[in-house]
Amino acid sequence: MTAAGQDPPRVVLATGNRAKLAELTRILQDRQVAVELAVLSDFPGMPEVHETGATFAENALLKARAAARFSGLPGLADDSGLCVDALNGMPGVLSARWSGGHGDDQANLSLLLGQLADVPDDRRGAHFACAAALVLPDGREHVAQADVAGTLVREPRGHGGFGYDPVFVPAAAELAAAGLVDRGLTTAELDPADKDKISHRGKALRALVPVLADWLG
Ligand code: IMP
Repeated sequence: MTAAGQDPPRVVLATGNRAKLAELTRILQDRQVAVELAVLSDFPGMPEVHETGATFAENALLKARAAARFSGLPGLADDSGLCVDALNGMPGVLSARWSGGHGDDQANLSLLLGQLADVPDDRRGAHFACAAALVLPDGREHVAQADVAGTLVREPRGHGGFGYDPVFVPAAAELAAAGLVDRGLTTAELDPADKDKISHRGKALRALVPVLADWLG
């Protein structure tokens, strides 16, 4: 209940990923936006969305639209991935499925490291990219995109995060912009709160907060 005694408005986060829910909850609390976040499992029967888009923005919109349509509430979704310079921006939207099956982080990481084995240190640039989409019940759609730049090391390090975090070292400039010191750590070695500060997802979701706050009045 809010201070005025009303239940906060609900927003559906189109994900089954609890880590994303926790990250968005922290961002909304930090910006003092009073909403109750629901997730897909709160809406049994919501059709599964296939991520068939060619871009992160298309996929995020597909997920946010489906959540808004089914629930009648604002739908919020993100789509993200790793874009490797030496692979012409791949795996990109295929990041979760790079080795074939969906979401096998270990296999995806091993395949990527093998592909980059002969790539010299000075050409191992990459960035994580994220598109966050908000679809409002009145049909308005908003998309925000953000990146975090870095380089890829040869051996996985650290146990935090997920996906490609154990090989991604954020650029010193990304850390400095968030007031952090560059110690050459991978995002799997960073404190989770520090990863939040520089993350592509955090930046994209934070960019949508004013739109949501405006809609809430
Ligand atoms: P999705 O946005 O949940 O579809 O995630 C796409 C894939 O991109 C994940 O399965 C990871 O492989 C990769 N990915 C996206 N964001 C991150 C991140 O913050 N750290 C590591 N891997 C990520």
